[in-house]
Amino acid sequence: MRRGCALALAMIGLALFSVADAQEVETLEIGGGKIEVAFGSPPTVAQRSLVLDWVSSCARAVTVYYEQFPVARVLIRIRFFDGRGVRSGQTFGWNGGLIKIAVGQSNSATDFARDWMMTHEMVHLAFPSVVERHHWIEEGLSTYVESVSRARTGDLTPEKAWGDLVDGLPQGLPQSGDRGLDFTPTWGRTYWGGALFCLLADVEIRQRTENRKGLENALRAILQAGGTIQSDWELTRALAIGDRAVGVPVLTELYGQMKSAPAPVDLEALWKKLGVKRQDGRTEFDDAAPLAPIRKAIMRAN
Ligand SMILES: [Zn+2]
Repeated sequence: MRRGCALALAMIGLALFSVADAQEVETLEIGGGKIEVAFGSPPTVAQRSLVLDWVSSCARAVTVYYEQFPVARVLIRIRFFDGRGVRSGQTFGWNGGLIKIAVGQSNSATDFARDWMMTHEMVHLAFPSVVERHHWIEEGLSTYVESVSRARTGDLTPEKAWGDLVDGLPQGLPQSGDRGLDFTPTWGRTYWGGALFCLLADVEIRQRTENRKGLENALRAILQAGGTIQSDWELTRALAIGDRAVGVPVLTELYGQMKSAPAPVDLEALWKKLGVKRQDGRTEFDDAAPLAPIRKAIMRAN
């Protein structure tokens, strides 16, 4: 599955619009966040209900993962296109946060349930803006936390969430000529290389803390320290805050290994240790695998 979204790193184009331009605005309150959903053209009663249910599910998943909605206020601007699906997600650090996204006129509840993009965009709200060479951490977090958070609320089965990681992560492995995550700005290294960093960090934090802490504890601490999309931070500052929260310097160490060197990873060995078997499009779990408790803790339903 190709993933792409345009995360605006700076407050570009603030003359975008105002809420008043939209014809319909609905407000949801989830996880302490005020979520304004603005429709660019009047939806039908059924479309309004489907869109609001979808936004609510994604907001709940992100809220469960971070134990709060990432920002006090976000405006979500919905544009309809002919057909089905969800496209063109963009997230901006603007007056809390702004997400622009396009949805199919003919979308059913199943089409919305299949979408990963809205959750991905909401996760962007929950990490500080960093300079361009670290873009992989922004897209990697959104790619990884999207699956994990939706598994935790039951919107994805663990089989689907792990299966997507097994299928996707090989695209994040270093190819020949790789110069590390900070210096190899390819699509694969940005989205899936960043997600690989997140999975490795999650597993390592859990191994070193006897599965008491995970990546979410680090990310919650970064958010609580004010690290939202609206803040411009040094990446090392965010990683240090995360490390302090979990009590082990996994993020800083892993960044040191992966930032300017290929740091290849044996994914097959990792899946075996976690007890994830993927064959012919089916995912099965091995609970006798040494890291099976860590695998379960990562996607555990709340
Ligand atoms: Zn993105």
